[in-house]
Amino acid sequence: MEITNSPNHHNLHFILIPWLAPGHMIPMIDISRVLASHGAAVTLFTTPVNAARIKPTIDRLSADNIPIKFVPLRFPAVEAGLPAGCENMDSIPNRALLSNFLNAAKLLRGPMAQYLRDIAPRPSCIISGTVHSWAPELAREFGVPCFFFQGFCSFSLLCCHNLYTSKVHDAASSPTEPFVIPDLPFEFKIARKQLPAQFQLSQFSYLVEEQRKAELAADGVVVNSFEELEPGCAELLRIASGKLVWSVGPVSLCNTSKSDLEERGDKASVDTNECITWLDSKKPRSVIYVSFGSTTDVFQPKQLTELGLGLLACKWSFIWVVKDGELFSPDFEGWLHENFEARADGKCLLIRGWGPQVMILSHRAVGGFLTHCGWNSTLESVAAGVPMVTWPLFAEQFMNQKLILDILRIGVRVGDVDTAVEWLGLANDSVAVWREDVTKALESLMDGGEEGEERRKRAEELRKKAKTAIEKGGSSYLKMKHLMQFVDNYKAGTNA
Ligand code: UDP
Repeated sequence: MEITNSPNHHNLHFILIPWLAPGHMIPMIDISRVLASHGAAVTLFTTPVNAARIKPTIDRLSADNIPIKFVPLRFPAVEAGLPAGCENMDSIPNRALLSNFLNAAKLLRGPMAQYLRDIAPRPSCIISGTVHSWAPELAREFGVPCFFFQGFCSFSLLCCHNLYTSKVHDAASSPTEPFVIPDLPFEFKIARKQLPAQFQLSQFSYLVEEQRKAELAADGVVVNSFEELEPGCAELLRIASGKLVWSVGPVSLCNTSKSDLEERGDKASVDTNECITWLDSKKPRSVIYVSFGSTTDVFQPKQLTELGLGLLACKWSFIWVVKDGELFSPDFEGWLHENFEARADGKCLLIRGWGPQVMILSHRAVGGFLTHCGWNSTLESVAAGVPMVTWPLFAEQFMNQKLILDILRIGVRVGDVDTAVEWLGLANDSVAVWREDVTKALESLMDGGEEGEERRKRAEELRKKAKTAIEKGGSSYLKMKHLMQFVDNYKAGTNA
């Protein structure tokens, strides 16, 4: 597409409606910043509790006169049978309350539409988080295009699209039987038990149908990825789905100031200056960062104990982020404290709660990331040139693992993790990965001889490509310009 208009799109007003989970809200706030850096105005809907988490970011953007307006709408948690203040997926107490949360989120549509009717300048485009299946209708009401932001990369979106259309997973004889997902640029075998929940959970099938219909009604998707990371996948997705695909990432790279890095997504549960001093005291590429995303209650004490003992048995220092929900009995608490906090040898920095992830990953002392392969974490690792040890848990993480291990070849798998865990399911107190698995994988990543060096070189190459992609003239920069041009033309009625 020719970019014919002025380089800045001061006339455009984007409406962003992130899904209420950290892995969706965080990149969508970054997307707002990228849109604003191209001259657009942005209104981002949130809720009071979620706004409070990112207050320093909101205040900073406002002080710098960045044209992003955060609108906190009251979230009807109590009316929907949720505890007061439960406004984010990471605070739903148990799986039985998931549908209450989804019902409460649906009620946001009315106040949102009301707000948009009176807003100036008029909306030009809606970018909606997944799950808000009413977003395309809302966009139609205002005569503007609608894009979804699902948080997946193009490769995983393509896998999902091809599953929806081919239904090969339904034909698999058992949850464990690997089958090939058709029409991908390379062969990829996966088993049903490793697929995202929408291909497994019959209990929520009505929701899946609703969401799929909405995706088909939207104009396309905004993807936090870049062309050079998954060459051809965005184009294959565009052809297969008939929808527009805008790869505009890695959007985390718009966080450049110390404050942006320290406070991204939430207040860090560690003194960030102490954390930097600790990292400064380590040799380059000698520290392992261990974190499994924003979800709580993923692991129970037995698994955490094995992981912790595996980390201690390695010769490298590590930062381990343990979520609040993972803290259990006084015995286990005592064990954690004794082994990971009271030790005076400086081998470990335990963070209980929220880790300043992008700040940590971008420190030169960090040489490896033990990750659950959430797409944000994966891309943030790529953007920092840090190779990964992969331990997928749920959602599209087994697809991301394929990209990391076999296509990009910048990772090592841990143990034999072959089954997705149920999101917010009661994690049973069993062990999927043993301490020896952890040690072996980390040794191979950090000390893997020639193979390890090659892996690290590939990661470094990708870091450079990621940086170039978002710079002026880079692939993601141009995609963002094209997206804005599309919206401009839509407004003028000249897209057809
Ligand atoms: N994150 C963070 N600190 C934490 C946990 C998560 O900054 O302690 C951020 C992380 O940088 C990423 C997002 O939260 O941007 C998690 O997204 P991801 O897709 O990796 O995983 P999810 O939480 O959605 O499973």
